[in-house]
Amino acid sequence: MSTHEVIPPGSTIGILGGGQLGKMLSVAAAQLGYRVEIFSPQADCIAADVSAHSTTAPWDDVEALERLAHECAVVTYEFENVPVDPLTAVPGMRLRPGLRALEVAQDRGAEKRFAEDHGGRPAPWMPVSDTRQLAKAVKSIGTPGILKTRRDGYDGKGQWRIESKSDLDAFAWPRVDCVYEGFVDFTAEFSVIVCRGHDGEAVFYDSAENDHEGGILSRSTVPASLAITGQVTEARKLARQIADALDYVGVLTIEFFATENGPVFNEMAPRVHNSGHWTAEGAVTSQFENHIRAICGLPLGDTALTGSRIVMDNLIGAAGNSWADVLADPQATLHLYGKGEVREGRKMGHVTRVERN
Ligand code: AMP
Repeated sequence: MSTHEVIPPGSTIGILGGGQLGKMLSVAAAQLGYRVEIFSPQADCIAADVSAHSTTAPWDDVEALERLAHECAVVTYEFENVPVDPLTAVPGMRLRPGLRALEVAQDRGAEKRFAEDHGGRPAPWMPVSDTRQLAKAVKSIGTPGILKTRRDGYDGKGQWRIESKSDLDAFAWPRVDCVYEGFVDFTAEFSVIVCRGHDGEAVFYDSAENDHEGGILSRSTVPASLAITGQVTEARKLARQIADALDYVGVLTIEFFATENGPVFNEMAPRVHNSGHWTAEGAVTSQFENHIRAICGLPLGDTALTGSRIVMDNLIGAAGNSWADVLADPQATLHLYGKGEVREGRKMGHVTRVERN
C-alpha cells in the first residue's frame, strides 16, 4: 500500500463481530477519529453500544456484506469463525487481515499444518473424523491427549481429555471433524502478539505468561517468568514467518506452551487477543490501537511497557459482580463489557494492575 492508500481519520471501519474485542477496537478507532460499523448476526451486541453504526444480519447475507464493503474504507474481524465463503462473494471488500488468515485460523488442522510448514512445532496430532480414526490416533500418539473439534471451539469448549484407552469405550463421538493431540507437559503458557503493517514492518509486544483455568484464560502477567523469556526469540521468529507468509496486516496472536524442549505451537488467532488486554494500560500503544493503525496504513505505535509489572485478571462468571471491590483498588483499571446476563464461564470483564516502581 503506498502513501495515497492511507485510510485517513474520518473514514468508516467495518468490524465483523460484535463482542468485547469489537467493542475495544471500536473505542480505539474512535480515539483516532474513525467511525465504526459493526456487523453481527446478534442484535444488541455489546460492540454496537460504542459504534457509530451497526448492521444485524447473518454471516451469509451477501447483500448486507456488500453494503458494508461499500460503506467502509476497510473491514476487519474480531472473531475468527466468520464464514469465509460469503466474504469471497464480495470482492470489493478491502479486508484486513485477509481471507487466507481467516481460513487457516478457523481450522485447527489447517493452522497446525501451516505452523509446521513455517518451522513451527505443534504437539503430535492427527486429524480424526470418526471413532475408528480416534482409536488409531490414540494408539499412535498415546495418552493422555485431547480431542478438539477442528472448528468453532473457544475457551476450552469442544475439547475432551482422553486419559487412557479405556476412556474410548463409553466415548460419545461429537459428530464433527476433530483433531487428536498429545498432552503437552508444559512449564508455562505464553503468547506472542505481533502487529504487522502493510509495508511488512512488525512490532512485538512483550510476551505475557498466561494462566488458564478450565481452558479459559484467567490471568496474564508481564514480565513472564524465566521459563518463558528464553523461548520468546524462537516463538517470535515463527510468528514473523507466519505473518509474512499470510501477508498479514494487523494484530496476530500465537499461543505457545513453554517446554523443556522449547516453544510448542498451540494455536493462532488472527486478531487482537485476551492475552493482550493488558496493553491498554500496560503499553504505550494498545493492541487495539495498533490494529487500527495497521489496517488503516498509519505508522505503528510504540509497544514499550508503561510499568515494571502488569497483571491482567479476567472477570469470569460471577466475578463480574465484583466491580465495586475492583474500583476501590487505586491500582486497578476496570473494564466491564456490558454483557447483561452473568453465566458460568462467560467473560464479563477484566481488570488490569500496572506497577510503576
Ligand atoms: P486451546 O483452546 O486449544 O488453546 O486450549 C485451552 C487450554 O487448554 C490451553 O491454553 C491449555 O491450558 C490447555 N491445553 C490445550 N491443549 C493442550 C495440550 N495439547 N496439552 C496440554 N494442555 C493443553
